[in-house]
Amino acid sequence: MTGNTTLQSSDHGSIIRKDAKYVMQNYGRYKIVLSSGNGCVVRDVSGREYIDCVAGIAVNNIGHCHPKHVEAIKEQAEKLIHVSNLYYTEPQAELAEQLAGITGMSRVFFCNSGTEAVEAAMKLARVTTGKTDFVAVEHSFHGRTMGSLSVTYKDIYRNPFKPLVQEEMFVPYDDSDAIADAITDKTAAVIVEPIQGEGGINVPSDRYLQDIRSICDETGTLLIFDEVQTGFGRTGKWFCKEHSGVEPDIMTMAKAMGGGFPMGAIAAREGISFDKGQHAATFGGSPLACAAALASIRVIREEGLIKRSQEMGDYFMGRLRNMSLDGVVDVRGRGLMIGVELDRKCADIVEYCMENGVLLNCTSEKVLRIAPPLTINKGQIDSVVDVLEQA
Ligand SMILES: *Cc1c(COP(=O)(O)O)cnc(C)c1O
Repeated sequence: MTGNTTLQSSDHGSIIRKDAKYVMQNYGRYKIVLSSGNGCVVRDVSGREYIDCVAGIAVNNIGHCHPKHVEAIKEQAEKLIHVSNLYYTEPQAELAEQLAGITGMSRVFFCNSGTEAVEAAMKLARVTTGKTDFVAVEHSFHGRTMGSLSVTYKDIYRNPFKPLVQEEMFVPYDDSDAIADAITDKTAAVIVEPIQGEGGINVPSDRYLQDIRSICDETGTLLIFDEVQTGFGRTGKWFCKEHSGVEPDIMTMAKAMGGGFPMGAIAAREGISFDKGQHAATFGGSPLACAAALASIRVIREEGLIKRSQEMGDYFMGRLRNMSLDGVVDVRGRGLMIGVELDRKCADIVEYCMENGVLLNCTSEKVLRIAPPLTINKGQIDSVVDVLEQA
């Protein structure tokens, strides 16, 4: 174990009791208290290790506490942590240039989370088109603030908070005709995840995104790709859109962007941009966040993590398809964004894996989501599959 005080397991109980007393109980948490990590492994307060196939929900793409990431954050923290967007800083300009290069888009706007990125994309679509409405798809997840919640599918997330920005606008996923039918003269944009994350790791057919692109072009509707979960190498490309060759008008990013440091952004193609005063975020693109993101991008490049995501993802899916676990309906995904659909709820398996040193999570009740750091190796993948087979 590294670091200062080694907490005794009695601290485990006291931490959980404090949470129960003082933190709003909106999360259903597993009963472990995590305190350190490196690479694909996290440790709890009693020193038990877990192979982390949650990775902060597709956030820790470069692994936990990568030395180059830690160093860059330390260095920037000693220099300048935050200044207002009334002024320029070098990390922000540098990161914007790099993102334009990686995404092929023209300009970016920086914010601090996925939901904020979706809000920005929706505002940009409205102000660009002068239209108000959105078409979204079933099983979508775009965030929890009022705008992004409006285009998020699940009733249990939406219903307590109505009225939202817009009522029903959902059409089935992977059905481009349904999108064509849903677009009206009020539609500003269509918003889709190129692979659905929270909705159960749903990979659409090859032509889907191309067909939506054509429909949007024909009707003068903007196309927004929500790449919050699929970005930064997760699917074996920098961004998932590259698998289809389709360019959106606006794209969102967040989760893995800062390597674990909270950060989000949108990027838009030439000709689509906010004008002065149309949008802002106090913390958006702070020097510290940008330094973290720049370091994370550098690690992804230097360690060849895009290719690795592809290779380890293929290996992982191959092992999962051949494992002996009862009730597996489907193994799907791209790169290291993998879903294992079961014929039953997966809560028990998640619990068993946790007790046996593997963190996984469950999405859409029956889908085990596997999204480890892109640095995972074959030995660790084999260990995960072994535990799943015993489950
Ligand atoms: C997680 C997620 C969001 C919301 O991101 P937050 O940072 O939690 O607000 C939005 N869109 C997609 C596709 C996501 O996976």
